[in-house]
Formats: sequence, C-alpha cells, structure tokens
Amino acid sequence: MITVKNLHKSYGKLDILKGIDLEIRKGEVVVVIGPSGSGKSTFLRCLNLLEQPTDGVIEFEGESITDRKHNINATREKMGMVFQQFNLFPHKNVLRNITLAPIKVKKQKPEEAEAIAVDLLRTVGLEDKKSAYPSQLSGGQKQRIAIARALAMQPHVMLFDEPTSALDPEMVGEVLEVMKNLAEQGMTMVIVTHEMGFAREVGDRILFMDGGNIVEEGTPEEVFGSPKHPRTQDFLSKVL
Ligand code: ADP
Ligand code: MG
Repeated sequence: MITVKNLHKSYGKLDILKGIDLEIRKGEVVVVIGPSGSGKSTFLRCLNLLEQPTDGVIEFEGESITDRKHNINATREKMGMVFQQFNLFPHKNVLRNITLAPIKVKKQKPEEAEAIAVDLLRTVGLEDKKSAYPSQLSGGQKQRIAIARALAMQPHVMLFDEPTSALDPEMVGEVLEVMKNLAEQGMTMVIVTHEMGFAREVGDRILFMDGGNIVEEGTPEEVFGSPKHPRTQDFLSKVL
C-alpha cells in the first residue's frame, strides 16, 4: 500500500530523516518506537506530506505522491491522522466535528454524514456524546472522537502519532482498545507509541528508529524478544 524509498528530510543543514526505506502492506499494523527526537513524528508527517520530503519517493496505492504533479489533497483524504493533542474544533459539538470534513470535502449530504457519524460514535463507545462540546469530554473521550472523525473520511490508512501520550494513565486503555478493534477489522495502521505492551500485542511489525534511521525492524517477538542492535537493546532496557 505504501512504499518509501530513500526518504530524506532536512531543515536547513539539519538532517532529520537520513534515508528511510520501507514497505507497508494493506492491512498491516506497523508500530514505530524509538527515543524522543529520533524522527518518528517527522517520518509520519512526511508519509501524508504534512512535511515535504527533501529527497526520496513515497508511493501510495501505486502512485508516487511525492511527484510534483500529484494531487496532495486527494491522497490526504485517504490517510487519516490522529495526533497527541486531539485537535478537535472547540466551538463545534461532537457531531459537527465528525461531519464537517465529509460534508465539505467529500460532499456528503448532512443526513448521510450524520448517520455515518452516529455509527462511528457507536464503534468508539460514545453514542451518547454527539451533542457534547470538546470541553465537556475527558481526554480519552476526546481522543476517541478524534479517531472517529478521522475514520469518517473513510481513509485507507490511519496514522497515529503518540495518541495516548497526553492522556491520564486511566484513559490510555480505552483509546488503545479502540485502536486494537480497528486493527482487528483490517485497517492499515502506522502507529508511533511508547506503549510497548500494545506494540507487542497489536503490531504486525515493529520499527525501531534512532537518529533519523530505521535501525532495526522485525516482528514484535524479534524486536522485543531478542533485539539485535545495541541501540535497540539500550532503548528497550530503559522502557520495558
Ligand atoms: P520524535 O517524534 O521521534 O520525537 P521528531 O520527528 O519530532 O522526533 O523530531 C526529530 C528532530 O527534528 C528533532 O531533533 C527536532 O528538534 C527536529 N525538528 C522537528 N521539526 C523541526 C522543524 N520544523 N525545524 C527544525 N527542526 C525540527
Ligand atoms: Mg514525536
């Protein structure tokens, strides 16, 4: 579904991504781990072109999206993204948050968009919150709404950047549960997280990033069970 070839990103003279190569298959759940500052967010943001890569090629569903002639907006619609800070529209209620983009961008009829939104609210366990405003929700609820909002665009892949890092510990589980269900339904997902238990249980493949490179990758069993690279070993010894 996604092929990344020799992806580089620099800011001025600062090299952040130093040549990433990767293939992500349809339905695969790829979990990216690694120390702070290793380039995980930059990598995710390059995947959906929130950041313009400095060099390299990204192909999505067979098309080069880094090609200058490519329509970025069409691709972004197919890539849902969920951030650490939920980025809900504070002055719109839950239903409006979810239906806004489908109505504006996908030209869905309001009734149709609302029916889909209510379905999605059911899948994230928040049917009763459709008229609530973000300030009336807990962090875990906000993040579940943010996931529902991303899903409303019917994306082909979902990108998550530390979706539980801003949450109080007791709310982490409810968000991970929603993500796990999504994975079980076959959604293609790329997830940056520090939740190692979740990574091990739900990930099909683990990428360990350090210093702008993918230093090691493998199945959860391989990477967590017998990490090969000293930097992976060192990182895991600190977080596990
Ligand atoms: P991670 O998500 O793994 O913590 P990031 O991708 O956020 O890492 O950042 C990687 C490096 O890139 C950091 O050193 C960060 O300071 C730097 N960086 C990120 N965004 C910018 C920017 N807009 N300008 C300059 N440096 C940046
Ligand atoms: Mg980050």
